[in-house]
Amino acid sequence: MTRYHAEYAWLPPAPPGPGGAPPLAGGAAATAANGAEPVADVLIEVDGDRFGTVTPGVGGPPAGAVRLPGLTLPGFANAHSHAFHRALRGRTHGGRGDFWSWRNLMYAVADRLDPDSYLALARAAYAEMALAGVTCVGEFHYLHHGPGGRRYHDPNAMGAALLAAAAQAGIRITLLDTVYLSASVDGRPLTGPQLRFSDGDAEGWAERVGAFGPAPGQVRLGAAIHSVRAVPAGQLAVVAAWAAERGCPLHLHLSEQPAENADCRAAYGRSPAELLAEHGVLGPATTAVHATHVTDTDRALLGRSGTGVCLCPSTERDLADGIGPARDLADAGSPLSLGSDSHAIIDPFEEARGMELDERLRSGVRGHFGPGELLHAATAAGHAALGWPDAGRIAPGQRADLVTVRLDGPRTAGVPPAGVFFAATAADVDRVVVDGRVVVSGGRHVGLDVPADLRAAIREVRS
Ligand code: ZN
Repeated sequence: MTRYHAEYAWLPPAPPGPGGAPPLAGGAAATAANGAEPVADVLIEVDGDRFGTVTPGVGGPPAGAVRLPGLTLPGFANAHSHAFHRALRGRTHGGRGDFWSWRNLMYAVADRLDPDSYLALARAAYAEMALAGVTCVGEFHYLHHGPGGRRYHDPNAMGAALLAAAAQAGIRITLLDTVYLSASVDGRPLTGPQLRFSDGDAEGWAERVGAFGPAPGQVRLGAAIHSVRAVPAGQLAVVAAWAAERGCPLHLHLSEQPAENADCRAAYGRSPAELLAEHGVLGPATTAVHATHVTDTDRALLGRSGTGVCLCPSTERDLADGIGPARDLADAGSPLSLGSDSHAIIDPFEEARGMELDERLRSGVRGHFGPGELLHAATAAGHAALGWPDAGRIAPGQRADLVTVRLDGPRTAGVPPAGVFFAATAADVDRVVVDGRVVVSGGRHVGLDVPADLRAAIREVRS
């Protein structure tokens, strides 16, 4: 048993009910329910990988307790990651372009990776996430095979490298093993680096994924449909049924680009969200990533079905995707989570405030999401979207993830604890505990030299 004394801690507004997280619905009452503020002098007991009692207002730290000066938050969930994109950071900004020209640069990196270099790059990227307070990553993984589509001896060697990477970086992972079969909505075949993504058809994908062994304690296996561009309509139901049978999360890219919507309407006479709804893909275990260019009908389909939406504000800015209708999606009934996607930056504070600040740019009005809603999206909603409903809250019985943020640094000094999402960056994270184990202390990873590992891993795939 370890006892922590937090100067301030952000506790959930009410004990979680049998259904888990309160939904992020609209309206003043819901905003108030999610608007909890940090409380002072909190004694947090950790027994193994779970929280024991959590007691606010205990006064000073009792003897033997580990002191946590600053603000202690639940662990962040990075609900949408492509680990190898970290090698592109700072290298794609030299000229004009768009999502599609960026994608060609990304494919060039994808084509160089093998299981060893993938492990090294992902381990360093996940360790950077740990430093930023991420305790669980959702890895949207489609780089399955060797060059030209050649199978590795272990057909899951690339996925296994990601699981090892997360374990070595000290964070949990949900491997969202992705179906990727075609190059366009009208079914053009894959070519070049894309050949590494395909299992031939959805049955072939299911057969390969079925060869994964049982998941260890810090791993979940989930499914992903890359997009309506990459999975023909006739194959969608196979993937949805696979995920439903196993009760695992199902993620997909949705309407990130207007061209995807136009191509889908041309091929199928309906929007991507309408097509997915028809084929049984939407529902509470499903998360749509981006949902940037959606219609009122799309939003209603997503919200009524309880489909979550994962926003990736820093990537959506970087790729000139556009600004998604975050508040409208939440009001329609979609729980919102957050991801760093291309890892143009890895900073959960920036993603969380991006939810609010991008809405301000879109609407000309301030005050769309309360601080408690930003926290919920960055923590409990993200963990739930990745199949961990027992994470993301500092509460008895939950997974013992803690993220302590300094309130005495140049960015956060003088800031009230509830204002941390509008002041802090990942560099203000001082200590991170994942499932009861200290992974970051004094702002440093306890097991890895993260900058050196990033430099070496990126040099390897770019040389
Ligand atoms: Zn993505």
